Amino acid sequence: MATTLTGTVALVTGASSGIGAATARELAGQGASVALVARRKDRLEALAAEIEKAGGTALAVEADITDRHQAEVAVGQVVERFGRLDTLVNNAGLMLVGPVVGADAEEWDRMIAVNVQGLLYTTRAALPHLLKAAEQAPRQVADIVNIGSYAGRVASSGFGVYNATKFGVHAFTESLRQEVTQRHVRVGVVEPGAVESELGTHNKPEIRDEVINPFFDGTEVLAPEDIADGVTYMVTRPRHAAVGELWIMPTEQA
Ligand code: NDP
Repeated sequence: MATTLTGTVALVTGASSGIGAATARELAGQGASVALVARRKDRLEALAAEIEKAGGTALAVEADITDRHQAEVAVGQVVERFGRLDTLVNNAGLMLVGPVVGADAEEWDRMIAVNVQGLLYTTRAALPHLLKAAEQAPRQVADIVNIGSYAGRVASSGFGVYNATKFGVHAFTESLRQEVTQRHVRVGVVEPGAVESELGTHNKPEIRDEVINPFFDGTEVLAPEDIADGVTYMVTRPRHAAVGELWIMPTEQA
């Protein structure tokens, strides 16, 4: 049976678009106060206004989580405003694909910085507050949901460094789960297949034309809300039930 999120506080990274925005909307709809973290402040403020108009509570927090200090300040701002933190959704990410031969190493650095380092910095800053919520708040449970990927289960040619970051996210999730689960901080990973979002748009034009657009044009992909539903399912389980892994694919994606 689902538990309510009323009175809880959730922080969603990458809430300015795609899966993060949909997840923030849905968690707010379930009664959580939501902190929206990303770099594009105008987008965050527009979403916060939309959530507030619908009767929810939202805080826009501009931060580049690849900067450890900014990630820490962002978490600090949320706890200062709401007094606690119950749920962290590590969603911010970047997917820049293409062959390793002749690759643009600067693209690798950017991907590793957000998909891995940003997730680690945010998690490290949030953990003391999540442990405290699990100990002292009425629900006595807290959650970290990491947005991994199908690409964190299966590697494929042309996706090597993205694969490396998402396999890393999955490994870190399981390690941290074992570390804190008996203190009632649940740690799980959501593994989406293809989702309609801005993710592919950051690639070079030839990659978009040859790899990304043909796949998306020929497949009925997931909507961000499909993933938001999965996250919501995980964080509304009763205290004794932890979902460690949720793999969500478009039916048409083999
Ligand atoms: P989007 O590109 O729409 O969203 C990515 C989000 O990450 C944006 O809100 C962006 O905000 C934020 N972000 C990027 N860099 C930073 C940074 N340095 N600091 C803070 N925020 C940052 O893509 P999706 O919604 O699809 O992606 C969300 C997650 O889902 C990613 O981790 C992705 O790998 C994963 N995923 C997506 C799939 C898909 O097919 N779409 C499939 C499997 C997994 P801003 O630019 O404002 O900072």
